[in-house]
Amino acid sequence: MTNRTIKQINQKIDKGDANIYTAAEFKKLIKKGDTPSFDEVDVVTCGTCGVMSGTAAILNFIISEPGVFIRANEVYLNGVPAYAGPCPNEWLGSVDVILHGTAHSIYDESYGGGFLFKEILEGKSIDVRVESAEGKTIENTITKDDITRGQIIGARMAFKNYTAFTNPGSEEVKSIFAATPLEGNLRGLTFSGCGDLNPLQNDIPHNVIKEGSRVLLNDAVGYVLGDGTRASAEKPNLMLSADLCKMDPYYLGGFKTSQGGEVYDTVAIPIPVLNEEIYNNLLITDDMIDLPVADIRGRHLPLDNTDYDKMWAGHDLRPQYDRSKCKNCESCLIEEICPTNAFKAERLNLTYCFGCGMCANYCRHDAFNMNTGSVDLNINDNDVNVPIILRQSDRLRANKLSLKLKKMIETREFIL
Ligand code: SF4
Ligand code: SF4
Repeated sequence: MTNRTIKQINQKIDKGDANIYTAAEFKKLIKKGDTPSFDEVDVVTCGTCGVMSGTAAILNFIISEPGVFIRANEVYLNGVPAYAGPCPNEWLGSVDVILHGTAHSIYDESYGGGFLFKEILEGKSIDVRVESAEGKTIENTITKDDITRGQIIGARMAFKNYTAFTNPGSEEVKSIFAATPLEGNLRGLTFSGCGDLNPLQNDIPHNVIKEGSRVLLNDAVGYVLGDGTRASAEKPNLMLSADLCKMDPYYLGGFKTSQGGEVYDTVAIPIPVLNEEIYNNLLITDDMIDLPVADIRGRHLPLDNTDYDKMWAGHDLRPQYDRSKCKNCESCLIEEICPTNAFKAERLNLTYCFGCGMCANYCRHDAFNMNTGSVDLNINDNDVNVPIILRQSDRLRANKLSLKLKKMIETREFIL
């Protein structure tokens, strides 16, 4: 094996000779026993999509004519509170705000920053209310076109390590993982993580993805600012940033839980195969990636271990809805608990669907068909099979953004 440089890979891309795989394509070949050799792979585009609570946006937008108010004290967008500042914008009629993806509407706990970001990008009208320092209330509506600048900063994104949770107790437990409390007596398991598609999982020494590396964040070209908060050598994550207004609403949005709205994002990062060490790190597959299973009540007490192959292999990424089986219940539980509001008025909107699996596991009349699998565990010396009832990660979005990145590299829209 001879090491290669980024310049050499870029020259191959220019000539149309580069071998670029998405992580899903590369892992499929490994699992088939047909692993491309070092000489047969130049770049692998990795991706992950999941709930990423550290997501925030810095926004500037015009709310009134200049001179109407001196300084904003409180700002609400569709009822979601934003922090005014850091620039006071005195008398200009515009405000700078920082808005958290996990901030909840003062009118509706299940609506929050993640849903708001998606609606902004979809071009919907957003109600804004400003309480000014001198006691005025200014109300207006804005759209994406009124946002002069919007930047997403994700304080903790693309985590490599996760824990799955189940509830061995007898009482149900509310959590940030689902819109329904997790039932007791090991009735279900919830997990996060895209396994062997995750960028950091394919760069375990964390020596390729560095400060300044270019990424796709929700389809906008962005950068790694450095390690994310709480990152460690064993549990890395990344701080990322990109222009909100250039993002595709498909790749980010809100996610309802019984603790209020959360936010999901999608990240794709290229791994140029410069040397043998980088190549060897790319050979990791789902069955090699441990996933501890913990008690949701204690959060950090591992009960048993499983792996990502058991979470994803052979399972469906999206549900099928069979209207003929739907009983039109007086109050549809699925409309209430679907984390992304993808099911409304007997219609399944696959653009909003996250493939979490809740509809298939909670509709008592089997109107949804989706195999999300189950896992054999040994808990307190008892062998149990626990159904996987909720995923907080979406491999379909992760794959799609990885494929988009591959095409952008091939066409030189994204330069390594
Ligand atoms: S709970 Fe199931 S059967 Fe009842 S209305 Fe909703 S989708 Fe239809
Ligand atoms: S899998 Fe079902 S519950 Fe989950 S997001 Fe899609 S429609 Fe909603």
